[in-house]
Amino acid sequence: MKFVLKSFGCQMNKLDSALVTSAMKQAGFEVSDSPVESDVVIINTCSVRQHAEERVLSHLGHLKHIRKSRPGLVVAVMGCMAQRMGEELLANEAVDIVCGPGQIDKLPELIQQRLEKKAKHLAVAEKIRAKVEESEAQGLEEFEVANDLTEDQLPGQAYVRAMRGCNKFCTYCVVPYVRGPEASRPPESIISQIKHLRDQGIKLVTLLGQTIDSYSYTENGKKWGLAELLEGASAVEGIEWVRFITSYPTDLDDSILAAMAGNPKVCKYLHLPAQSGSDKILKAMNRTYTSGQYLELLTKAREMVPGIAIAGDFIVGFCGESDEDFEATVSLVQKARYKSCYIFKYSPRPGTTAEKRLEDDVPEDVKKARNTRLLEVQSLISEEDNGRLVGRRMRVLVEGPSKKAHLDKSSQDVDHKQLISRTGEDYIVVFNGPAQLAGQFAQVKITKASALTLFGEL
Ligand code: SF4
Repeated sequence: MKFVLKSFGCQMNKLDSALVTSAMKQAGFEVSDSPVESDVVIINTCSVRQHAEERVLSHLGHLKHIRKSRPGLVVAVMGCMAQRMGEELLANEAVDIVCGPGQIDKLPELIQQRLEKKAKHLAVAEKIRAKVEESEAQGLEEFEVANDLTEDQLPGQAYVRAMRGCNKFCTYCVVPYVRGPEASRPPESIISQIKHLRDQGIKLVTLLGQTIDSYSYTENGKKWGLAELLEGASAVEGIEWVRFITSYPTDLDDSILAAMAGNPKVCKYLHLPAQSGSDKILKAMNRTYTSGQYLELLTKAREMVPGIAIAGDFIVGFCGESDEDFEATVSLVQKARYKSCYIFKYSPRPGTTAEKRLEDDVPEDVKKARNTRLLEVQSLISEEDNGRLVGRRMRVLVEGPSKKAHLDKSSQDVDHKQLISRTGEDYIVVFNGPAQLAGQFAQVKITKASALTLFGEL
């Protein structure tokens, strides 16, 4: 029996996809890359943006056609959209199984049952904000540990979930309603998973959590925060780099910055979404800081961790965002001098406070224009700051051959492929070298820089 899994959405989703792929293989299924040749199609969905949900629905339309020529095909929808839409999604002609993020450990069995012609099945949390039952939490934990995380990931690198869920309730965000309350995984379990990954050749581990800096677990009387977890993960022999994403500004305490400054294995990369530079909008978003406090935090991070690279996230066109509010965001980006920025146009998500109580009153063309302008502002900053890295020698972890080999037309080296790699600070570095370097560390001298990419020589 063959299966194909298509993943939409964030890193957390990709991690779930890797776990399910591994579990399906262990259950005797073979991976395929085409729905037409498969017995099972699994779609891992994302609800964070409207666009991601629209893509899933259009994909389901396509599967409905395929099912006409393959009537026995089983289609399972997992992930945030499955939790959010539940019954409504199960009613879709193309769907057999709907499975929320907290039920993925049951998915291979549900698929098996449906292949045996059992009824359609809905497996989602009934009360998503209720504390997860001990037995269910245990089931998820065992599933996480028993399955392989390296599937579909870059050579030498793996993501490890440190936390599930979120308690912040930013008014625009659907995550607390689809991934449930914040829950930290036991450190012992995380560290034994990292040892297992190390045995498979993993050198860089990225710890994942919606608000990873609020990680907290008490084990045998010892309290673990993110700083302790970073120390524990980097103490695993063979692991050379440890990173963490994503941080929430008011949870970022000095102990985390001290771990970044003092431990050479902890990468000096901080992803710290601000979302807006206007205090009025931050309040409407229920972000619990002002732009001034956020900038002070950046100053402290840079003082405590010299060489730190910081990435930001922004939503433009949020409810009530005036030109003046947007200009405050532009000003924050100019002051923050991020390494890079992720910028999104606001779209209301069903069930969130913003969707229920605030008016989506910024016209689409204004959102687009603000998005473009902010990208331009950041691009100029990145270009300027990246230019200062020319001449530096940097240690990189090589990902593999570059898919956009046209990026550097000046290269005359025909024997060596153009490789793509990243530094610990998450700079993308392109250089020519032997393909066998994939998954290995290398020293590269930076010779040229653009806003998004550094170019170098091995
Ligand atoms: S911190 Fe806010 S934006 Fe991030 S997952 Fe939680 S609710 Fe969503």
